[in-house]
Amino acid sequence: MLHDAPVLLLDLDNTLIDRDAAFRRYMADFLDRHAAAFAWQDRPSRQDKNDRQAVMQEVMQDIIALDAYGRTPRAQFCSALLQRYPALPFTPDSLWHDHQRILDHFEYNAAIPAMLLRLATRYRLGLISNGSGPMQRRKLRDAGIESLFALVLISGEAGVAKPQAEIFQRALSFFHADTATMVGDDPHNDIRPAHLLGLATIHIALPGDAPEALADHVLTDILQLEETLSCST
Ligand SMILES: [Mg+2]
Repeated sequence: MLHDAPVLLLDLDNTLIDRDAAFRRYMADFLDRHAAAFAWQDRPSRQDKNDRQAVMQEVMQDIIALDAYGRTPRAQFCSALLQRYPALPFTPDSLWHDHQRILDHFEYNAAIPAMLLRLATRYRLGLISNGSGPMQRRKLRDAGIESLFALVLISGEAGVAKPQAEIFQRALSFFHADTATMVGDDPHNDIRPAHLLGLATIHIALPGDAPEALADHVLTDILQLEETLSCST
């Protein structure tokens, strides 16, 4: 019976949608639009236009490090970017506004709603995501998965965020469940707090990310989730 089926809680960014790929596409466009603010700053040895591409690659690597898989809070990311590249024609607020263009750079992956539809026959599905309500809702809609969750908890709407225990406890109480399995990419926000509450955890390790030792399972691809759940239950 589905009403007492096990509960599966999932993170959104970099778990169900490839947020880092969208970020890189958005940033490539951003660097194109604002090349003058980056190209030669603090790089006196790089005055040759032939070096422009190399400079922009360096800038991209720098920004990707600053972004830290999107785990750097956005206000902090925007301020740090402007501090580092003061020629950018933005305030932190207008940069945040520009940042929302990332929504246009996500690629639809039909395998994700298909997998969630199958899982929804065996699990009660909840989504727990940090971010602004409008942005996360748009990502869910564009990914074709908004209607597949019995519960959607977004920090910007809920007033509580991961890694606070309360957001996980709200999910458990919604489902009248003592436990659940939490699936996410972020050791700090998804895995460790869920583990502390006694939940089973599945870490989706991103390229370059260390597998979280506390996790019950570590996957490198969300599409391995069904097989892992079948083997562990
Ligand atoms: Mg995430």
